[in-house]
Amino acid sequence: MTDAPATPDSAPDTPTPRRNPKPEKTTINGRELTPTTLMMGHGYDPVLSEGSLKPPIFLTSTFAFPSAADGKRHFEGITGKRAGGAEGLVYSRFNGPNQEILEDRLSIWDGAEDALTFSSGMTAICILMMAFVSQGDVIVHSGPLYAASEGFVAKVLSKFGVTYLDFPAGATREEMEAVLEKAKDQAANNGGKVAMVYLESPANPTNALVDIEAMKAARDAVLTPDCPIAIDNTFLGPLWQRPLKHGADIVVYSLTKYVGGHSDLVAGGISGAKRWMDPVRALRNTMGGIVDPNTAWMLLRSLETVELRMQRAGENAAKVCAFLRNHPKVDGLGYLGFIKDPRQQDIFDRHCSGAGSTFSLFVKGGEAESFRFLDNLTIAKLAVSLGGTETLASHPAAMTHLSVPDERKAALGITDNLVRISIGIEDPDDLIADFDQALAKV
Ligand SMILES: *Cc1c(COP(=O)(O)O)cnc(C)c1O
Repeated sequence: MTDAPATPDSAPDTPTPRRNPKPEKTTINGRELTPTTLMMGHGYDPVLSEGSLKPPIFLTSTFAFPSAADGKRHFEGITGKRAGGAEGLVYSRFNGPNQEILEDRLSIWDGAEDALTFSSGMTAICILMMAFVSQGDVIVHSGPLYAASEGFVAKVLSKFGVTYLDFPAGATREEMEAVLEKAKDQAANNGGKVAMVYLESPANPTNALVDIEAMKAARDAVLTPDCPIAIDNTFLGPLWQRPLKHGADIVVYSLTKYVGGHSDLVAGGISGAKRWMDPVRALRNTMGGIVDPNTAWMLLRSLETVELRMQRAGENAAKVCAFLRNHPKVDGLGYLGFIKDPRQQDIFDRHCSGAGSTFSLFVKGGEAESFRFLDNLTIAKLAVSLGGTETLASHPAAMTHLSVPDERKAALGITDNLVRISIGIEDPDDLIADFDQALAKV
């Protein structure tokens, strides 16, 4: 960011180049601007970057201080000698302009005070958990979780004396209170505390919803507010579920999915109040794991269309599921638009503003029939992941959940005839034609 060219003395009427950011407007005549509008410009002033309308990609490992005293002040903020954190940019393991704009924009979607971004969803989840646990502590989590999250708790944190208790996603407030009481006893026995409640809703691959409001009530009744409730909101966020409004403290994303949205990057994010973000930022400063500037720039582009893309994908999924619902070769759908359980429907009505575009399709038959269906799809690509512009299909029992023991698979309903589908933004009638011809070959 260099100075704009000096104004020639001979042109006194030429306005002086301005180098300070314009104060940002987030309301007009008392109207609060929506996240959709703010995604086009929030947190970036072209004046600071030679008038470049879009933020440049800042490929630099370090940032020059205006003076030695400024350098000292920055480090006092980073090391915690002075409250309030860094006041400017210091070093690219800590932060950079692209990442800061991205974090400002991500926090807007969740109505959060602060946000942090990472090199992957799993980096976000691992650093988040590590920032809050000590030896002897207990993590309480809903089940199922994304397999790598579950593995990190059970196989990695356990090496450091951290234990866990899990409860089924659909649990009632009473069941949640019971597991929290048990966790409190377990923590007391181990000389620790209940360090975090970690939820994933909807859960992968069952789409089971967790009652966030009930968990907040249970946490407040049994534990102290020092134990944060974090929730992986990858499947419905940031558009269709805003968990901070329902009592969660921290929202977690794999930005690889709907937010990135083009299946061309891997990244993660968390958002919440500064009090929860600060310890995570400190650990990220130490470990690294911040998203790189190029990926952050791509995510800024993605955020400009996230609402458009998610809306279209959601409408497409509704049309495709309406077609699949009564198809003779289909044995059921796990789609949030067609919930059968009244308690799950109640959670959906309170927490969600859309059914998403990722669902399970149960093909009549078993693995052979499901594979025939998958192998005959022409538009939908055969790949794991979700939330991209293109439609993807996969077979959890044989792919993402292959290593899950058979009893747990059965308990979670991960059967051999389950096909996982993420609907993209193609023409919905083309997608229906593709599913129809592939089902005909089953
Ligand atoms: C993909 C995913 C993750 C992990 O994110 P990465 O970006 O792949 O590291 C975590 N949680 C959920 C629900 C996911 O779908």
